Amino acid sequence: MFGKEVRGQEKAIYAITCLIKREVLPTLIFYGPEGVGKRRAAYILARTINCSDGGENSCSSCRQMEKGIHPDLVVLESNNGSIKVDSIREVIKSAYLKPFYKKKVYIIDDASLLTPEASSCLLKTLEEPPLYCVFILITNSIPAIFSTIRSRCLPIRFRRQTEEIQREILLDLGVDRKDIDDLIKFSGGSLSRAMEYKGLNLSLKESQIEKWFASFKTKNAIDIAEDILFAEKSFPQFLDFAIFYLEKELPLHLERIEAILEAKEYLLLNANRRLTLENMCFKLQEVCNDRDSWFSLS
Ligand SMILES: [Zn+2]
Repeated sequence: MFGKEVRGQEKAIYAITCLIKREVLPTLIFYGPEGVGKRRAAYILARTINCSDGGENSCSSCRQMEKGIHPDLVVLESNNGSIKVDSIREVIKSAYLKPFYKKKVYIIDDASLLTPEASSCLLKTLEEPPLYCVFILITNSIPAIFSTIRSRCLPIRFRRQTEEIQREILLDLGVDRKDIDDLIKFSGGSLSRAMEYKGLNLSLKESQIEKWFASFKTKNAIDIAEDILFAEKSFPQFLDFAIFYLEKELPLHLERIEAILEAKEYLLLNANRRLTLENMCFKLQEVCNDRDSWFSLS
């Protein structure tokens, strides 16, 4: 059923395969690092429980699923960094209408972005969902989900895939063999990010990172943090590149890599972005002041 579509997640897939045989499914939380197949697994679950041709993928439900127009599949995503109560109200309204095929599947990605109001609104439905409904919450930060919601869900853990499996998947996705090692490092093991970075000009990124580090000599930490917040639409990606850049000379830059990794962890737990980046820049600057030639990286 899952075949080659989700690899390196044997335990999670085994658990899901057992659950699918049940008449009524519990509410599920798929959790684990970013980009390791959680959303893909949720989608395949939705496809499988609505299929009527024994997994041949040729029935009308499977075809609609593949085209992204399935009437019983709803994917709820964040809008401006959060999932608000209005979206949950819409979901609840539709959950009480019978499915077109067999089961209605609601995928909430990322569930840690539910606002407190949205969480308590969802909670009422999760207490007694219609039998034909399956809710799948996806997150890379399970502690960030309300404990009252967590207590009503069955958690399924997804792990980071080994580099060997990542390599196999990227090759299958058409990535050039010579780019694979760099992409795996850049993306910190997240395959979805590796695919995002596939088309980027890596040497251009490198010169941006060099300039950024050079700015520590002339600017203060708060201004530098501000620069990343506003100049880089996707600063988690910027941080990945910074780490990759520093890792080239690992023993020299260990403290700086640690400061950036720590910031990344806090950001994953939805810490305040500005404070986290400012704190990171202060640490980076301290290291800079400790040594004369810290920021001449060539
Ligand atoms: Zn089918």
